[in-house]
Amino acid sequence: MRILVVEDEQNVAAFIKQGLAEEGYVVDAVGDGELALSYAQTYDYDLILLDVLLPKMDGRQVALTLRQRGYSAPIVMLTALDGVDDRVAGLDSGADDYLVKPFAYRELLARIRARTRTYDRPGTPNELQMADLSLNRLTRVVKRGGQEIEMTSKEFALLEFLLQHPNQVLSRTQIGEQVWGYDFYNQSNIVDVYVGYLRRKIDDGRPLQLIRTVRGAGYKLSADA
Ligand code: CA
Repeated sequence: MRILVVEDEQNVAAFIKQGLAEEGYVVDAVGDGELALSYAQTYDYDLILLDVLLPKMDGRQVALTLRQRGYSAPIVMLTALDGVDDRVAGLDSGADDYLVKPFAYRELLARIRARTRTYDRPGTPNELQMADLSLNRLTRVVKRGGQEIEMTSKEFALLEFLLQHPNQVLSRTQIGEQVWGYDFYNQSNIVDVYVGYLRRKIDDGRPLQLIRTVRGAGYKLSADA
């Protein structure tokens, strides 16, 4: 799952980003409201963590603008303000939930899990499958031929993206942006390296290879003979 963190305090943003990455989320972080709008409309996020007090455009205005434009992913507001009026204003602007700083990290994770669980992404069920391979987005269990396969968080995110686009050729740039966020641009061969790891885990020694290299174009996941 991919999350956009909008927070102008760099140490808080780094703390959240690192923690979520350890949990297997793909995280992009931006530090002002205008960037938040443009990222939300460019990339496909499962949830936005949105600070209220931000440079250029405050979090409520960001939430309001996104909702007016039909944006449907869940938004959780982060703020240092803790009054009933503030909470109501946040929810009125289109946020789904509210977390007051400083918050316990476990609570942040619980809110994210709760919000992503109830959010039905159009066309993306929680159980993704191809042939005898399955991936559950909630329990994070991957199986092939009924056998559970251990995955690192990046391998999981990569496989999830491939399974969301079956039989579709995905370029290295598309895969890199989706799985590594904008960190991808510093690491040229990381997609090939991780596709290699994933192949070893899900395809090696099996009669049907699901991960296909499309020469000069990228990769695709397919069960076609
Ligand atoms: Ca702030």
